[in-house]
Amino acid sequence: MSAAVEQLSPAVWRVHAPGLTLKPYEGTQCYFVGTAAEVWLVDTGDGGPRATEALAAAWAALGEPRVSQILITHGHRDHFGGASWAGEFFQALVGVHAADRAAVLADCPAAEELAPGRCAIGGVPVELLHLPGHTPGQLNLWLPEEHLLLAGDNVLGDTTSVVVPPAGDLHAYRQTLERLLALSPSVIGPGHGSVVRDPRGWLAYYREHRAERDRQVVDLLAEGALSVPELSAAIYGQREVHLYRAGQLMLLGHLAALEREGVVTELSDGRYVLREVPL
Ligand SMILES: [Zn+2]
Repeated sequence: MSAAVEQLSPAVWRVHAPGLTLKPYEGTQCYFVGTAAEVWLVDTGDGGPRATEALAAAWAALGEPRVSQILITHGHRDHFGGASWAGEFFQALVGVHAADRAAVLADCPAAEELAPGRCAIGGVPVELLHLPGHTPGQLNLWLPEEHLLLAGDNVLGDTTSVVVPPAGDLHAYRQTLERLLALSPSVIGPGHGSVVRDPRGWLAYYREHRAERDRQVVDLLAEGALSVPELSAAIYGQREVHLYRAGQLMLLGHLAALEREGVVTELSDGRYVLREVPL
């Protein structure tokens, strides 16, 4: 079998599709799921020639199984950019969750809505889970018999996930993390980076990382009202411009979640304060 295809379990093969994506990653992890006769393709990379060549070569190495469904985990281009190409090349339907479909349609007008639920791929039981946060319509694929989760961008292999407004919703993402912890997968195939072999530890780290940032925000606001740039300077200090902007976006995500959870409130001048808790 080609070195470009890595078998993760009896029913899952991983393919790295090189292309434009978030740093430090250099491509998207795509997956073929099923049997020698029938598979689904999970994500398509950015649609550039390096990605499409990698997917075509992997499919050939697997013996050209029938592709009965292309699953787009969410509406980010590094995952759906190759959807139109893949739909034609593999003669397969393209599906995405309703909440992310609008983002995909301009590139892939054939994309249909996929609803969460249980089904089977060539006899392999799978479950489509709607786990929002990174985007509103993030779908993950769960293989209950293998305890294996294909997590899209809910989980990344080598860094924490990015959850920033307007598409990202940290309040929803926190609930997604709790559901993933309860699911207790043995292996996670992420949208980018290395296979996660210790999901419990990695997910616990994700949860603690967010909680730590919440505590920093709350501690700073306990001293008085602060604007987003003031909070960002206090937490991130002086950084390169693109990191500084990324930090501010992350902070906006935390503030939006804390506001929804009744912990902070935004003043008319744009500064944030802790909400007074009635005694
Ligand atoms: Zn994404």
